[in-house]
Amino acid sequence: MSDSGLIEASLRTDQGRVRGRNEDFIARWEPENPTDEAQHGRLYIVADGVGGAEAGDLASSYATDRTIHHYLANHAEHHAGERLLGAMRAANSDLRQLVASRGEGTRMATTMVAALIKGAQLYLANVGDSRGYHWRDGVMVQMTRDQSLVAQLVEEGAITAEEAVLHPHRNVILYSLGSERSPRIDLFGLTLQTGDRLLLCSDGLTRYVTDEELAAILSEGDPDTVTAALVDLANERGGADNISVAVLQIGDLPAGGINISQAADPQIVATNSSRPRGSTAAGRTVLWIYTAFLCLLETILILLVWYQLRV
Ligand code: CA
Repeated sequence: MSDSGLIEASLRTDQGRVRGRNEDFIARWEPENPTDEAQHGRLYIVADGVGGAEAGDLASSYATDRTIHHYLANHAEHHAGERLLGAMRAANSDLRQLVASRGEGTRMATTMVAALIKGAQLYLANVGDSRGYHWRDGVMVQMTRDQSLVAQLVEEGAITAEEAVLHPHRNVILYSLGSERSPRIDLFGLTLQTGDRLLLCSDGLTRYVTDEELAAILSEGDPDTVTAALVDLANERGGADNISVAVLQIGDLPAGGINISQAADPQIVATNSSRPRGSTAAGRTVLWIYTAFLCLLETILILLVWYQLRV
């Protein structure tokens, strides 16, 4: 845990109770002096790797290391959020090169949620279904949007949020680093206030703990206590997946921070989607198959009803 006065942070990752390895990865980059603080801010990352064997571990750790490397190296970009997006795009290219070097048939990809805090400004970049939440005065809001099949089906009205929790394809993500040349990466922005809290986590936590429970636990105790309580709760309820949690407590913010946005609520400030949503990758194929299956089922039911009415 670090306590710089500006931010008290606790990051915790746990293998869970079922998986043989931990494919999640958590990381922080914090400045050593005021010059670095002014130039780079602070970076906190949760990544959830997929790929089997050691590939998932490598995907999440490698993509995180490369994101931090590219972020620190790119002094030319003055917009902090764009600089973070650029770093994640570059890490995606690095990861794809690594996949290519390991030969055909290698599958390596990772989700990533990255929080960049510079002065009072927060940028949250997200690809996949890990999440970032903002908490203020007891009210918690999920800032990121899940890039998952079930989230898209809920958004389109095909299923309810309750059905999504038990959906057979709830693990299918639409975008990730490593899986395609130009994955969609969303960027959200918010002006922080003293006393705010942030929570970054992998789906190993959110599959077991509701938003209401997260808000209640986040409201009590210091960041170390909160991350321990959340990991324990996910394990008590099954721990079927790796569990990663980062909790950041915002302390005294510097006067004259770079308040480039006065938004009281999280706002999406950019996305690098180069194609319409739902156009590529395995998750979207499953979406089409699922939709076609529903149409077929509907047609059969209509024919059955029609037949019953005739006889
Ligand atoms: Ca996971």
